[in-house]
Amino acid sequence: MKQLEQLYSGKAKTVFRTDDPDHYIMHFRDDTSAFDGKKLAKLDRKGKVNNRFNAFIMEKLEAAGIRTHFVRVLNDQDCVVKRLEMLPIECVVRNIAAGSLCRRLGVQEGLELHPPTFELFLKNDALGDPMINESHVEAFGWAKAEHVVRARELTYQVNGVLKQLFADAGMLLVDYKLEFGLFKGELLLGDEFTPDGCRLWDAQTREKLDKDRFRQDLGDVIEGYEIAGRRLGLHFD
Ligand code: C5P
Repeated sequence: MKQLEQLYSGKAKTVFRTDDPDHYIMHFRDDTSAFDGKKLAKLDRKGKVNNRFNAFIMEKLEAAGIRTHFVRVLNDQDCVVKRLEMLPIECVVRNIAAGSLCRRLGVQEGLELHPPTFELFLKNDALGDPMINESHVEAFGWAKAEHVVRARELTYQVNGVLKQLFADAGMLLVDYKLEFGLFKGELLLGDEFTPDGCRLWDAQTREKLDKDRFRQDLGDVIEGYEIAGRRLGLHFD
């Protein structure tokens, strides 16, 4: 597969076209950002760790029957993915209160949520990714109602698989963000699943092993990601 021109460059990943019209190459950079790009840094090993982490999770989801855009790892920082037409929305599930939920509703971080909550956000940096609901998506034509229903279904299915996977490795899956896109008419999980887009706590100590280490200046950001990965059985050299 030949890598062609860059199609899109986000805050942490770059997507390239290839000579195969159905596939892209997704490159995980060492860049990291928080607070809508207001806080930026380059973190050694991040691209490599996230590429591995993402591949491992996507393979677990595929094995559980959840279809994703992931095809295969290409090298340390690249993987091959299917070419999706992305929905411009982010789906967030929360098992435990943290982050923007606490700020918005004034609830205590760490409160267990039964049932887990499901939230939608519009992907729009200029507006700071505002929270929206299904009727907004339909009224503004951002996606078809049936695709939002499916995205919600898949997001909850992912929760069933990953909550258990992390629990078995001594971690709490606090919350996470997923993005979906269409491939030949079918809605597939796109983007990534890494400690950049989820919150993971040690089940005993509640130590943070995710991007909150960067957001909150806790230090050892990538070391936290590696601890989470090693507990899942990954090896980083
Ligand atoms: O900030 P908030 O608490 O709403 O984030 C919920 C979850 O979604 C967190 O795991 C966060 O890392 C993830 N998220 C993300 N990208 C965004 C917004 C949130 O990965 N643009």
